[in-house]
Amino acid sequence: MHHHMDELLKDLNEPQRLAVTTTEGPVVVIAGAGSGKTRVITYRVAYLVGARRVAPHNILAVTFTNKAAEEMRGRIYKLLGTVKLESWIGTFHAACARILRREADCLGYNRAFSIYDESHQLSLVKHCMKHISLSERDHNPNAILSRISLAKNEMITPEAFACSASDYFDQQVARVYTLYQKGLRENNAMDFDDLLDNALLILKEHPERSEKYRELFKYILVDEFQDTNHVQYELVRELAKEHHNLCVVGDDDQSIYSWRGANIENLFNFEKDFPEATAVFLEENYRSTQLILDAANAVIENNERRKPKKLWTSNKHGEKIVWYGAFNEHDEARYIIQEIGRLKELHRELRNSDCAIFYRTNAQSRVIEDELRRANVPYTVVGSVQFYDRREIKDVIAYLRVIANPKDSVSLRRIINTPPRGIGKTTLERADEFASTMNVSLFEAVGRASEIPSLRADARQSLLTVHAYLSHLVEKKQEVPATELVREIVETSGYAQMLEQDPTFEARARLENLDELLSAAAEFEEAAGDSSLDAFLENVSLKTDIDEWDETRDLITLMTLHTAKGLEFSAVFIAGMEEDLFPHANALASEKGLEEERRLCYVGITRAKKRVILTSADTRMTRGMRNAQQPSRFLDEIPGELLQCIDGTHGERVTDDDYSQEMPAYEGSAFHIGDIVEHSAFGLGRIGAVVGSGEKLKVAVRFFRDNKQRDIIVKFAGLRKR
Ligand code: ATP
Ligand code: MG
Repeated sequence: MHHHMDELLKDLNEPQRLAVTTTEGPVVVIAGAGSGKTRVITYRVAYLVGARRVAPHNILAVTFTNKAAEEMRGRIYKLLGTVKLESWIGTFHAACARILRREADCLGYNRAFSIYDESHQLSLVKHCMKHISLSERDHNPNAILSRISLAKNEMITPEAFACSASDYFDQQVARVYTLYQKGLRENNAMDFDDLLDNALLILKEHPERSEKYRELFKYILVDEFQDTNHVQYELVRELAKEHHNLCVVGDDDQSIYSWRGANIENLFNFEKDFPEATAVFLEENYRSTQLILDAANAVIENNERRKPKKLWTSNKHGEKIVWYGAFNEHDEARYIIQEIGRLKELHRELRNSDCAIFYRTNAQSRVIEDELRRANVPYTVVGSVQFYDRREIKDVIAYLRVIANPKDSVSLRRIINTPPRGIGKTTLERADEFASTMNVSLFEAVGRASEIPSLRADARQSLLTVHAYLSHLVEKKQEVPATELVREIVETSGYAQMLEQDPTFEARARLENLDELLSAAAEFEEAAGDSSLDAFLENVSLKTDIDEWDETRDLITLMTLHTAKGLEFSAVFIAGMEEDLFPHANALASEKGLEEERRLCYVGITRAKKRVILTSADTRMTRGMRNAQQPSRFLDEIPGELLQCIDGTHGERVTDDDYSQEMPAYEGSAFHIGDIVEHSAFGLGRIGAVVGSGEKLKVAVRFFRDNKQRDIIVKFAGLRKR
């Protein structure tokens, strides 16, 4: 524990120390991976509090995820010893939500506004599309939503968007966008983009409300600045307008979120917008071996649009990067598992949690998970169907949202007939119509069911009953803690009964999950010291994929390359190093897209401290089709002398249970050595060996096209005799 600031500064190298101690005025740190940028932010907060006696609440430190914020808080707490930290450390979204809870009324919102996550957004988009009869078959709601989101990232209003919409797609988006914004308003809800947009609006147009924040945040720090978007940059510029005490750190080579509106130029514009800024360059990497850095540097050098950077380390030279070319994706997964086992035997101190498996697309995790389960290796997937994405949890949260904000009709629609109460589609449509004619919320319309024309008597009664039930909870919310509300909803809404009557194992699991939700609420109350419903909901709404990852459990971690940003592991595996997968086909249309994929590759490799193992598969099943794959160009970009190549494509590892779940039944019969056969992906070839029989008949075929021999299980892939 550091009680003296000198000691704290001893943990830093010279340029890091400069970045930490230059507390007044703008500072920009542009530096490569693992050079201690995040460390600079952490130590700077500690230094401001410890040496400059700045009150913690006067510091705004922005991290990329809530989890990173938590970690940072923990580190600072350790560095400072005893000071209790009530600083604003967190994501942009969390900070904005906190401001808006206090100020949103000046924009016409009620302070109990709901925060809509992606699934709410999507259902609202669909609802709007239905309203103007846009079919979901011809217009992808997801595509429309991301277009809307990109517009909001640039603070383009629906009106402005409509004016500039030049093609058919944008014109349809404009129609949906207008309704979507209106819908959010009517629901007293904000989506994630609104949190940023509205906070900025208050800063720019409501000085009477925002002056206090300019004064409050005397020091502002931003990590991962290369992935900020336009609005986020405007936010910090506005907040730091008077004092310029703004420290940003980033790496242009790690900008990987441009598809979500991140603007790499923010990092470069910083020195133009703040010409007096102290620029700090960090060149020493503390994380990786020299060989890993050499490989990462060699890859990223192929990008045209970048600032050249030096990066070196005094760490060991290290071992070569392994490239395993697998027979198929099952073989790939098994190799990875086997290799982790081997590494753990070699290095006794290596734990499962020191090993990570990255991939480009979420779908890739399934086969790896299957193989891990089969091998009985404990693992966790970061960002898959997480706790808060489960149906029963979403349902109860929807109840809570309605209670917090009765105008939230998206949530109300979700639960009005869950559990079933005899409120059918038509009834709901009538209530919706009544709401829009009378210009009231759906909740209010439900309460006035007796005025809604042409409703069946039992439907009317059901609406009144559910309204009375929810109103009772609305009244109660001020008096009882969030945990009590959760308990009451589960027990009295009929939800628990519904599950209890269901004898399936699944229903039991759902009940257990609801118990877990109670624990989550109780835990939150304890940690935050706030038992209000609003605080709990906000905590739930702002959760991101990575937040629930508990790295203290000794599990192998699976995640996408995007999620891996900022993290480090001893051994890193990157699966699916294949053209069209990584780099991803969608990105290949433009040079820009390809460069972002390459940065993603750079991010992946530089997460590793000691070992990097890259794998590709010769064939891979995608969307039910087995395709022949080409190794990723990024593999070619790593100098040969840094690579140890292992060729697994001959399929020695293939075992009998391969493909067991994915093959159509084989009906053919005899294959003989010397036969010419045709394969759907590899073309013509000659059989060199035959093993097994029946279902397990396997042949080795040397294909003419590339003169490579591959083991093929006949049952699969429609191997035909010629
Ligand atoms: P990334 O670009 O991946 O976000 P970064 O630049 O933020 O990386 P950090 O995560 O801050 O780098 O640091 C990388 C590793 O090096 C961490 O384990 C950190 O504790 C260590 N480190 C950083 N600076 C020093 C230093 N001066 N002395 C010893 N270790 C250091
Ligand atoms: Mg970092």
